[in-house]
Amino acid sequence: MAPLEPWLLEMLACPRCREKLVLVEDESGLRCVRCRLFYPVQDGIPQLLPESGRPDQPSAKGSAQSREPAEPGGR
Ligand SMILES: [Zn+2]
Repeated sequence: MAPLEPWLLEMLACPRCREKLVLVEDESGLRCVRCRLFYPVQDGIPQLLPESGRPDQPSAKGSAQSREPAEPGGR
């Protein structure tokens, strides 16, 4: 899976507060720098719908693992 293009990231903004978004460490989504909502990226496409925003990153280890595992050897 190709990472998000830097120029694309520059164009994106939080649908709620219009603040810029930053890529999370594992590149599984984007996080708003202001309201801290997390928007998942699926197939290289950021899901920037207000209802897609989550208040926190869902990939916390140790708790319920309901997420699909990342593809082996991703990128
Ligand atoms: Zn925001």
